Amino acid sequence: MVEVRLLEEDGRTVKVLLSGIPLAVANTLRRYTINEVPTMAVEEVLVIENSSAMPNEVLAHRISLIPFTSDIDRYRAPEECDCGSRLGCEKCVVRYLLRAEARDRPITVYSGDLVPEEETTVKPVSPKIPIVKLAPGQRVEMELYVRVGRGRKNAKWQAAISSLYESEQGERILMVESIGFLPPKRILIEAAKALERKAGELGEALAGLLEAEKDGE
Ligand SMILES: [Zn+2]
Repeated sequence: MVEVRLLEEDGRTVKVLLSGIPLAVANTLRRYTINEVPTMAVEEVLVIENSSAMPNEVLAHRISLIPFTSDIDRYRAPEECDCGSRLGCEKCVVRYLLRAEARDRPITVYSGDLVPEEETTVKPVSPKIPIVKLAPGQRVEMELYVRVGRGRKNAKWQAAISSLYESEQGERILMVESIGFLPPKRILIEAAKALERKAGELGEALAGLLEAEKDGE
């Protein structure tokens, strides 16, 4: 029988003891906590103005690495949304603006300077992540599109750093350290759901194989 025992938990990390599952499955669960859990990050940046020393692509890349607290009950990945719109709808995109200008002295622009277009719970995990330095007279203005994605699509959506190891007593322990998008326990649950979906797909595909065989007779 499968058993999961909570060993340790804090805001960032969860450690569970897994028993009754094959090593390969435990390892897949570990990989799923990294690659298959939906999280939210800036997917697209529309640069309106950038007179900083940082090229547009570098600036866009830096912004895309900011983790956002991810409301995955409300938002879904664009490819899973029924709007079919490239720009997205209220279920698949959160729009942010970044406008900053250095007047008489140099300034540093931080994640806390990002302003949502509408009230939202989807926010940078910390307001103190530095983005770009501006010298007097320089300014940046851009629109940001925060969307749901998964680590397998791009590392910027990677939900956690996870490891699987054996204790001295030979027990199998999975440790999940959240990057900050989601609470660590939620990451585990979402990884298990993704695993369940995959197993379901496999079951259906195999059942389809049997059906095809029957039809062929
Ligand atoms: Zn949509």
